[in-house]
Amino acid sequence: MSSPASSQPKSASQPLPFFIDGEAVQGTGQAFSSVNPATGEINYHVSAASTDDVQHAVASAHKAASDQKWRNMRPHERARILHEIANGIVKKAEHFAKIQMRENGKVFAECRTQAASAAATFRYYAGVCETLPSAVTPPRGNYLSMTIHEPVGVVAALTPWNSPLTMEAQKIAPALAAGNAVIVKPSEVTPTAAIEVARIAIEAGLPAGVLNVVTGYGRDTGAPLIQHPKVRMVSFTGGTETGRAIGRVAAERLIPAALELGGKSPNIVFSDADLDAAVDGIIGGIFEGSGQSCVAGSRLFIQRAVYGDVVSRLRAKVRQIKVGLPDQPGSTMGPLASFTHREKVEGLVASARAEGGEILEGGKRPDDEALAKGAFYLPTLIAGLPNSATVCREEIFGPVLCILPFEDEDDLVEQANGTAYGLACGIWTADYRRAWRIARQIDAGTVWINTYKQLSISTPFGGFKDSGLGREKGIEGLRLYQLAKSIYFDL
Ligand code: NAD
Repeated sequence: MSSPASSQPKSASQPLPFFIDGEAVQGTGQAFSSVNPATGEINYHVSAASTDDVQHAVASAHKAASDQKWRNMRPHERARILHEIANGIVKKAEHFAKIQMRENGKVFAECRTQAASAAATFRYYAGVCETLPSAVTPPRGNYLSMTIHEPVGVVAALTPWNSPLTMEAQKIAPALAAGNAVIVKPSEVTPTAAIEVARIAIEAGLPAGVLNVVTGYGRDTGAPLIQHPKVRMVSFTGGTETGRAIGRVAAERLIPAALELGGKSPNIVFSDADLDAAVDGIIGGIFEGSGQSCVAGSRLFIQRAVYGDVVSRLRAKVRQIKVGLPDQPGSTMGPLASFTHREKVEGLVASARAEGGEILEGGKRPDDEALAKGAFYLPTLIAGLPNSATVCREEIFGPVLCILPFEDEDDLVEQANGTAYGLACGIWTADYRRAWRIARQIDAGTVWINTYKQLSISTPFGGFKDSGLGREKGIEGLRLYQLAKSIYFDL
């Protein structure tokens, strides 16, 4: 059993502590285990926050959010702290990558990119907080009005396990830039990155209590957190059904909820596309991170004229994917993040078989003995099913690509929009007029043309339909955490 270096508990028998008011705290809930999905071994035991611990975290955050020192801190001072946090994350990039690899099984090279992206997020919002204007409207008779943006107060940030550091940075950085106090409840599968960021933030000069972390399961720790009357906003990234439940609580409490949810994104190949580029984009779009990405291009629509050609190129590329232990340099795909998640993926592939689907590649665990103890699953291609089949409608969040032919644009748009989701879409064509036409008709918060999975912190991101509410990133990603207040003066 190993332990992340800087989150060491005081004694070997104690679980990893979480972080409240600038201090490591042992929870009073039932500790849980972090399991390495590549080996099945326990990484460490982790402290769980009970309702009492959640009360403690909220009290500390509320005190910090009300403190004039933090609320009224000059933007350049706040920006300096955010830059320092970015520096601290960069210094520990290797450490963050190792933690993530151990906790969710992504290959090391992929984990290694997360610290740079998280640091860029803190730097971007440092810049935004220094430059965001408040509006003063022209005098109207004897009256002058101005609109300022107040922090919402205490923000609960609930995050998933697929890219913990990136997702947490996308909530913490704008919420702090806007002057809030934050309590992060990371996924129970990936509990450590958020705790490390909270430690780095204290070293960077963030006042104690402004950033707190409580670890535990959603029902025991997340639920009391979002119910707490002093929590004034919830920022959630995770599955659509959980998001719906969280949205209901927020609606009942009349607090804002930003919801980044699941997807079933179409990747579309027209017959005039550069097929080499398209095939590379399709493979990366679905199999990076073992398909455990909200924007995974999990439905592939191929125009009939090039269907056979694209499918045979894909099959050849899939056979080159090296499924292996995430710390082995040659591995290009690791395990799924947990054994229960693999069961879910297996269940959905079984449904594809039962509904008459043809498994072109994969559809099973690897035969390799060295991988037998981990939650591995082969990259899988499924064809021969209609768009209404279970695997074409439900988010699998695994390395499974459903392949469907299409005839023309009308047929395509209807099929591509034919799920409850609307997160992302890829379009591969040499005809830019057509790309624009399709992009406008697709229900998706992000559309990529002749590329896939390009993301930038300055570009708003979020879903249509069941993929969510609100936009993270960009200026909109900071405005989420503010409330406009208009003040009128009688001159
Ligand atoms: P999840 O919905 O199970 O959990 C997300 C977080 O919410 C976890 O921290 C969990 O403990 C907590 N939670 C669960 N139930 C709760 C409750 N009742 N009250 C309060 N908190 C609760 O999601 P997951 O399995 O961790 O992540 C996978 C999902 O996340 C996929 O559906 C994926 O598409 C989605 N996702 C979306 C985006 C996006 O930006 N749209 C990004 C990454 C992942």
